[in-house]
Amino acid sequence: MNDIDAKWSEFETQCKLCNLCELSKQRKNVVIGRGNKNAKLLFVGEGPGSQEDDQGLPFVGQAGQLLNLAITSCGLTENDLYITNVVKCRPPQNRTPLPIECAACLPHLRMQFSLIKPKIIVCLGAIATNALIDKDAKISQIRGNWIEKKGIYFMPTFHPAALLRDESKKMDMWEDIKKAQLKLEEMNNA
Ligand code: URA
Repeated sequence: MNDIDAKWSEFETQCKLCNLCELSKQRKNVVIGRGNKNAKLLFVGEGPGSQEDDQGLPFVGQAGQLLNLAITSCGLTENDLYITNVVKCRPPQNRTPLPIECAACLPHLRMQFSLIKPKIIVCLGAIATNALIDKDAKISQIRGNWIEKKGIYFMPTFHPAALLRDESKKMDMWEDIKKAQLKLEEMNNA
């Protein structure tokens, strides 16, 4: 096993053993992520729902199908990206993760950043945007705008579940993901 595989394996073991917050008590699976571990583009959602908890994979339910549709219709493939969440265990009844749960899980996300080394991060919804860009930001105000921090480009956009409730947000999310695809293309051609 090479060094990076060994680090991933150690990280995954730590996640599976994690009991740093209450969410660990009810989980079936820790949902770590899916996609290309060497991708420049990272999508960060909120936290697993029931299907994600069952399968141990992020964004495999209804919101995930919509996200996949947006991703593929913007010209991206699974190989272009990695997908994860702010919290790795399912909040009961799919409630929003509490600040204390996000804070407890953040070291896992930071470890993923250091393993993947993404150049572009799409923040899906308020929880990811507040955790990674600005704790006070309003998603409806900052979505669609690039924010650069330490050489990483962050694109805040709506969470796909918000689109299931309000179709009028669809075009905006599509445009934001297209911006991420174009930025990736620009980087790949540089
Ligand atoms: N919503 C999220 O934020 N993440 C998932 O993995 C699924 C739904």
